[in-house]
Amino acid sequence: MASINSAIKSMKRNALIEELKKLKLNSAGSYSVLSRRLRNHYRRKKLLEAGIPLKKEILPFYVIVDFEATCEEVNTPNYPHEIIEFPAVLVNVEKNEIVSQFQAFCRPTMNPKLSEFCTELTGITQDQVDSADEFPVVVKRFESWLKENGLGTSHNYAIVTDGPWDMGRFLYGQCKLSEIEYPKFAHKWVNIRKIFHNFYDTRQVCLKLMLESLDLKFEGRPHCGLDDAKNIARILLQLAEDGAPLLPNERIHKPKLQNDFSSQAIRSNKSSRTQPISKVVTPIPRTS
Ligand code: AMP
Ligand code: MG
Repeated sequence: MASINSAIKSMKRNALIEELKKLKLNSAGSYSVLSRRLRNHYRRKKLLEAGIPLKKEILPFYVIVDFEATCEEVNTPNYPHEIIEFPAVLVNVEKNEIVSQFQAFCRPTMNPKLSEFCTELTGITQDQVDSADEFPVVVKRFESWLKENGLGTSHNYAIVTDGPWDMGRFLYGQCKLSEIEYPKFAHKWVNIRKIFHNFYDTRQVCLKLMLESLDLKFEGRPHCGLDDAKNIARILLQLAEDGAPLLPNERIHKPKLQNDFSSQAIRSNKSSRTQPISKVVTPIPRTS
C-alpha cells in the first residue's frame, strides 16, 4: 500500500486523470483532490480484497443549514447578528441527491431595518423580513420539517455547515437574543470545511474554493442561504463518493451551554455579548 501511495504521489496531473478515467472515476478536480481520490480508491479496494469491512463513517442522511444574518459592511466583534434566512436541504446519500428543502425568512427584532449592504449581500429584502415570522416560530417549523422527514426518528442523520459560525455564532447568539433554549438538533454537526481541508489535504478553504477544487461552479446566488446550502450539498456528495469520513466533528461546548442557557441566564439575558467561537464550539475527536 505504501508503494502504491508513493507511486500515486509521484504521478503528474495528466497521469492521474488518465488512471481515474480508466477506473471510471470522476477525473475532475485539483491535483490534491485527484491524488486523494485515487489513493482512496486503492485503499478501499485493498481492504475489500482482504475481507476487512470498511469503517462506516457515513450516515444515510444529511441536513445542510446555511443561515443568513443581519450585517453591516464592517461588523464590530460584538455585532448582534440576527438570523434572517433559515434554509436547509436534505440529502439522501444513497440516492445521491437533495430530496427535500426548507426555507423561511425571519423577522429581526433588535435591528428590524436591514442595512443596504445586507440586502445587497444576501438578496433578502425588507419586505421579505417584515412579512416573516420571528425566529422562535421559524425554528419550531424547522423542527416539524425534521420530524416530517423522519429525521432523528426513522432516519439517522447529521447537520452539516460550512464552518463553525452557523451554529457557534448565528444560532447561539440568536437563541440568546430570542431567550429560547438552544435546540437539541444543533448540539453537534459536520463542519464540512474542516473535513474537506483534512481529507483532500488542501490549503484553507471557503465555499468558493471548495467548489473550485472540485472543478464545480457555484450554482445560483452566493449568500442566498438556500443556494449556499445546495452548493454545500454538491460538495458533500463528492466527499461521500470519494470515501471521506462524514461524521459530526464539532459540537457546542457543553459547560458554556449549561451556563448561558440555564433558566436563570435566559431570564436575565445574561452574557449576551458575542463570544469567541473557540469558547462556544469544541472539536469532536475522530475515533479510530
Ligand atoms: P454566508 O453564509 O457566507 O452567506 O454568510 C452568512 C452571513 O455572514 C451573512 O448573512 C452576513 O450576515 C455575514 N457575512 C458574510 N459575508 C459578509 C461580508 N463580506 N461582510 C459582512 N457580513 C458578511
Ligand atoms: Mg450563506
